Amino acid sequence: MKDSINPATLELNGSVQETSNEDLKSIFENARSAQKIWQKLPIEERARRVVEINKVMSTQYEEISNLISSEVGKPPSEAFTNEVYGVIDATFHYYSTVMETIGQKREIPLGFYESMEKKSYVIYKPLGVIAVIGPYNYPFAIPFMQIIQSLMAGNAVVFKPSSETILTGKKIQDIINETKLPQYLVQTIFGSGSELGNPLIDLADKVIFTGSTVTGKRIMERAAHTLTPVDLELGGKSAMIVFPDVNMERALSAVRWGVFTNSGQVCCSIKRLYLHEDIYDEFIDKLVKLTKELKQGIPTERGVDVGAMINLEQLELVDEMVQTGKNEGAKILIGGRRNPNLKGYFYEPTIIGNATNDMEIVQKEIFGPVLVVIKFSNKEEVIDMVNDNPYGLTSTVWTENIEFGKRIAEEINTGTVMINEVVYTFALAATPWGGTKESGIGRTHGREGFLEVVRPLHINVDRSHENDPWWFPYDEDALDVVENFKLIAKSLIVKDDE
Ligand code: NAD
Repeated sequence: MKDSINPATLELNGSVQETSNEDLKSIFENARSAQKIWQKLPIEERARRVVEINKVMSTQYEEISNLISSEVGKPPSEAFTNEVYGVIDATFHYYSTVMETIGQKREIPLGFYESMEKKSYVIYKPLGVIAVIGPYNYPFAIPFMQIIQSLMAGNAVVFKPSSETILTGKKIQDIINETKLPQYLVQTIFGSGSELGNPLIDLADKVIFTGSTVTGKRIMERAAHTLTPVDLELGGKSAMIVFPDVNMERALSAVRWGVFTNSGQVCCSIKRLYLHEDIYDEFIDKLVKLTKELKQGIPTERGVDVGAMINLEQLELVDEMVQTGKNEGAKILIGGRRNPNLKGYFYEPTIIGNATNDMEIVQKEIFGPVLVVIKFSNKEEVIDMVNDNPYGLTSTVWTENIEFGKRIAEEINTGTVMINEVVYTFALAATPWGGTKESGIGRTHGREGFLEVVRPLHINVDRSHENDPWWFPYDEDALDVVENFKLIAKSLIVKDDE
């Protein structure tokens, strides 16, 4: 049995039976049988059956939010707005857009070849059985949105939630079981990634993985054996750049939430704050004061803003990095320790100033409530500093001059750049989600997300009764054909003034 522990109270939430490696073979066999039937249904019918998830969830908002809170340590209100609502919105969005993105054939113009009565089109077929491997920090929204897109595209799913959030994983399965979706179309397995991971990757037709960069690299290495395609949604070190013309009050509120929501355990939470030298002192003073006002405590208590971290191991990793920062010469402006007044895994909201871009605390992901602040003096310098980082998930530019902000955005190498916003785009179902560099490969959400869970099937049709001119024999006529092709080739040269 695997236990789920409440990280705020350290009480037992419940347990589930772990899946054994031997069970995986039959789980995949059942998934393949269910998928064969599922893929034959018209896409509209599949979408209609999947969108029933929203109806099933409509009577359980509080129950689900409380469950997430009990496993992750975040306030239930945050669990609702950032996770439960996210799934509902995504399910409706995918239901509304699946036809236009992957439900229609796409005719492809063939130029000269069309004169020989040739035509091509592409349709989108499901991949088969997709393994969805989830993280602990958004254990409901992240994997569920991926599962929903995979299902509508005609796939079956074998889902492995994080071992820290098994009951939320089970809840996703329970919700699916309450719809009319076929049995075995989604199956949730429980256990440690190091044990179940390899057979899961070996058996799947695609892996959608969300988690740390270290694990992502292991998954890609294993997937190379079977050439299983992977979508990797990995770590981040998101930067916020603040120019002097900013709306300071809004920027202060945004960064405070963007750093400390979910106790900073967000792949795209603000981890690096780049402040222009003209506003550095004022901004820092105000931010430290605002941070002092945050209430940390048992997340189900009224008025609590910041809850607990997931476990002792993660808390200690965060603390180690904060100590590294001190040794590197950075200055703790607030926080910097485990909260001594609470018995669960609470780390105090922490801001570290006087940092420089080469420091380990600026370069490495610190997956907890820790912000590192760096001063800059001009736009070229800050763009270089933001890009000089192994991660490339999101970033955000703060200025009242939107056109200037857009120009900066285009110079930054991350999957998303927000202007005057923080974090929230990870919940948008309509827009592509994913990173560059060590933040991962591929995209989930939106049109790009649908394209990750299908294989484009190109169908080419010829209605001619003639032999193709390039077929054998290579006789005198063939030489004429070559000459003809040379003429056509010349017609394809683009003139300088065109
Ligand atoms: P993790 O890598 O420790 O675990 C993620 C999942 O992988 C878990 O389900 C785990 O059991 C499984 N796993 C572990 N070893 C495995 C293996 N060898 N084979 C297959 N599966 C294995 O990550 P975590 O601690 O749960 O999540 C935190 C990390 O995830 C952070 O780095 C964060 O930035 C990242 N994250 C990224 C995104 C994104 O969208 N880019 C979203 C959320 C979290």
